Amino acid sequence: MGYTYDDQNIFAKILRGEIPNKTVLETKHSLAFEDIRPQAPVHVLVIPKGPYVTYDHFAEAASDAEIVDFTRAVGKVCEMTGVTASDGEGCRFISNAGAHGVQEVPHLHVHVLGGRSMGRMVQ
Ligand code: 5GP
Repeated sequence: MGYTYDDQNIFAKILRGEIPNKTVLETKHSLAFEDIRPQAPVHVLVIPKGPYVTYDHFAEAASDAEIVDFTRAVGKVCEMTGVTASDGEGCRFISNAGAHGVQEVPHLHVHVLGGRSMGRMVQ
């Protein structure tokens, strides 16, 4: 049981500066950057800098400081990209985990998607 972190995943390489990215926000414990294959006018990925595979891994293993930093980074990205539901038209957060979640990159990330209607999740 438990998670094994693969430090060769693409986001680990981005964090080490081995692969370029279009940074939207960097904080002490988090990085936000544009998705390379955007699915909406706003499509930003927010990741913790620590080696966490999924949200449940992060929630269990990260420090309170990392969790607060990450949570605030997601909110800040919404503000910076104009997709809050208060001043903008809103957005959707998605965090895929594991096989059924069809997670491509095994480093926790939250997709922030906005700039168009995301449609209903269940039709
Ligand atoms: P997942 O399916 O794991 O939730 O989504 C992974 C996301 O990472 C995809 O939306 C994909 O487009 C994005 N992605 C994969 N490789 C790269 C990369 O090298 N740079 C950036 N910026 N995004 C990437």
